[in-house]
Amino acid sequence: MSGLQTVTEWGTPNLGQTVKITKVLHEEDTPFQHIQIVDSLQYGKMLILDGVFQTSEKDEWAYHEMISHVPLMVHPHPERVLIIGGGDGGVAREVCRHECVTQVDLCDIDGRVIELSKEYFPHIAEVLLNPPEKLHVHVGDGIAFTKNVEDFYDVIIIDCSDPIGPGEGLFTREFYRSACRALRKDGLIVQQSESPIVQEPLVHDIYCAMKDVFPIVRSYFSHVPLYPACMHSFMLASKVYDPLTAEITRKAPSPMRYYNEEIQKSCFVLPNFYKECLFEGKYSF
Ligand code: SAM
Repeated sequence: MSGLQTVTEWGTPNLGQTVKITKVLHEEDTPFQHIQIVDSLQYGKMLILDGVFQTSEKDEWAYHEMISHVPLMVHPHPERVLIIGGGDGGVAREVCRHECVTQVDLCDIDGRVIELSKEYFPHIAEVLLNPPEKLHVHVGDGIAFTKNVEDFYDVIIIDCSDPIGPGEGLFTREFYRSACRALRKDGLIVQQSESPIVQEPLVHDIYCAMKDVFPIVRSYFSHVPLYPACMHSFMLASKVYDPLTAEITRKAPSPMRYYNEEIQKSCFVLPNFYKECLFEGKYSF
């Protein structure tokens, strides 16, 4: 096909993932990041921020279901949820499916991600296009937003980009302490914690930082085709409920493409190399 281009994301200087694209649908620099929206042959439309593959039409559910439903099902009665980042709307869509959730605040620093997601990813951004009453969308820094809240949220989902640019401050002890204050006494947070294959030191550092703030920290993973080695980690930090022992008292919304009742617990069963990375700071790749 004439005019066929490719886009590559470099997970490390020596490992990249390349997709063939038919065209670049949109590209712009905002005050926060470089945004690209491309039409790929493999995954359909894709959102890329600062050269990092964020989400795609074809695989978005693998990430959005696992970062949303695993923590929401650990908490016995989540009512108030804060989403930091998540400007594409995928996490908000999944969180709004829980009837017990009565308030969802989404705070993304870049309004252009929100606007472009509505335009190019209407399925992922469906609740941004037709917001239910319980959804409140804010454009601002999630760090500042969290600082202004105390003893309010049951679950905070940090669906942020990589720790470069605006996302950097979301991976610090200071922010985790602020998020802990923003939670109710039995609240919990979850953060996308990067790749246990190409970002092992970062995964270890996130685990240690959260352990300094929360009594319970557990990591789980999901297979996300768009991400390096198709494996992506999440870090769940909790004041009271332990995902390994929590009794699941509700039925999860359905249908789902990835999440199911068995995966609620099995996603926390980690391979040895992953445990060595988390607990010992020993790296395999
Ligand atoms: N990785 C997700 C996925 O797989 O679907 C997508 C992540 S979402 C697009 C990442 C968002 O984090 C971006 O929209 C970015 O603007 C936002 N972000 C980065 N730093 C932020 C901050 N400090 N406060 C709020 N939002 C932030």
